[in-house]
Amino acid sequence: MSTQPCTPPAARPANAAPARPRVVAGPEHPRRPSSPAAASADTVSVGRMLRFFRGHRGLTLTQAAHTVGLSASALSLIETGKREAKLSVLTGLAEAYHVRVEDLFSTRAPSQRAALEIELEQAQRAPEFAALGVPSVRISPGLSTEALAALVGLHRALSEVRRERAATPESARQANTLLRSRMKAQDNYFGEIEVLAGDLLRHTEYQGGPVRNRLVDDIARRLGYSIVPAADLPFSTRTVTDRKHRRIFVPEVVSTKNELRSLTLQALGHVALGHDVPRDYGEFLEQRIEVNYFTAAIKVPEREAAALLIDAKARRELAIEDLAEEFEVSFETAAHRFTNLSTRHLEIPVHFMRVSREGIIHKAYSNDGVNFPADATGSVEGQRVCRYWTVREAFNQPWGSAYSQYTDTGAGTFWCTATIDETPDGPFSVSIGVPNAQVRWMRDRVTEHRAVSRCPDPRCCARPGEEVERRWRDAVFPDARLTPGLLSALPPGRFPGVDDVEVMEFLERRGP
Ligand SMILES: [Zn+2]
Repeated sequence: MSTQPCTPPAARPANAAPARPRVVAGPEHPRRPSSPAAASADTVSVGRMLRFFRGHRGLTLTQAAHTVGLSASALSLIETGKREAKLSVLTGLAEAYHVRVEDLFSTRAPSQRAALEIELEQAQRAPEFAALGVPSVRISPGLSTEALAALVGLHRALSEVRRERAATPESARQANTLLRSRMKAQDNYFGEIEVLAGDLLRHTEYQGGPVRNRLVDDIARRLGYSIVPAADLPFSTRTVTDRKHRRIFVPEVVSTKNELRSLTLQALGHVALGHDVPRDYGEFLEQRIEVNYFTAAIKVPEREAAALLIDAKARRELAIEDLAEEFEVSFETAAHRFTNLSTRHLEIPVHFMRVSREGIIHKAYSNDGVNFPADATGSVEGQRVCRYWTVREAFNQPWGSAYSQYTDTGAGTFWCTATIDETPDGPFSVSIGVPNAQVRWMRDRVTEHRAVSRCPDPRCCARPGEEVERRWRDAVFPDARLTPGLLSALPPGRFPGVDDVEVMEFLERRGP
């Protein structure tokens, strides 16, 4: 049984995610070990059952223990779930209580009171509770049902608060760091998703070049879904999928056809990849990465893109812009796609970054040994990148075209190219880079721009000059511009950041 400490069978919330088969790209995803309290959940619940049935028969501990040759204290330990009973003991007791042995293992508590007792017992056994250092309450017949219900209510509320806290930046960063190391280990190539996307495209009339919206509709049909434009989509969502009636609601008004294509493909990605309600923040992020990968793998199909790249490499004319042009995608999508395919098909290691005007990393990937700044937990997102790196120098150049530069760093020399992407959240610089040894394949390798970065040495760019610092250190007091959306705390819910009420009300309005 996989019952969690705070949700015994009688009180399992309706939204608890059921076990399910998962499509996981690459090596088996590391599973979290189950909590030690979960292992004893059965013992607790069997013990409660035994106590309940004994009470029902009007037997004392001593009387009941006597029928199976145990001491009263031994039976008490079994009833409180502190000791596991042998099957022979259970059989004997079931007989004495005039019940079947199966009844002792019933997942249904025999009464409301027993359900509360089980829930409290399990909550008090959870390691999170032990960590609070609060004494636990002895569960005895003398404890009123009212007090019992109040305690259980408090434990439930506490577990809710804990769940909210689980969606704060710190744990989000940890989950993200874990995911990034997995992506690096597989060179950012997700074979299963490539095969899935390739198969779906092969069943349309796709002939190469850009993947038009018409083909996306074909893919939806193949997956058994229809695309329905809606003017009243909940504000907290990009699209809403109704799995019962197999419809995907997309916004009626979008800024570009490209945006509609991306939104639709992301929703279809969840369907095609068999995603279910995420169990935790890590799985939520993983699903986002997988649907983004799926979307890019449809828009820039592996077979056609790899052919183009292999040919360009042979001519020493590799350029992200060509990929963007051929498939009519943004520089960022093309750059992202380049990281998926370059190591696999071209044997070129690579790094990728998306950096805000303030120099803060929003997205990053590397398998080429570049020394990204990182915090103590190994998290790269949210760190400020060296001001001499290409990705930041690009802000100081004309924004219309790509800017390329060689940068000497503590980890070697890298050639990078960056483009500024103007978004409603402000301008972002998107860059792709390769180690010096690989630059001979790149078309824009000839450039006068060179820089030296000594970061993480703070004397590189993290501190002002001594003279300047002395003049201003005690006189300056700036007010920070907070960058929203960077692994920031998301309102908790089944889907972080999504307003469940709005979504269900939206579907209610739609009807079948
Ligand atoms: Zn620096």
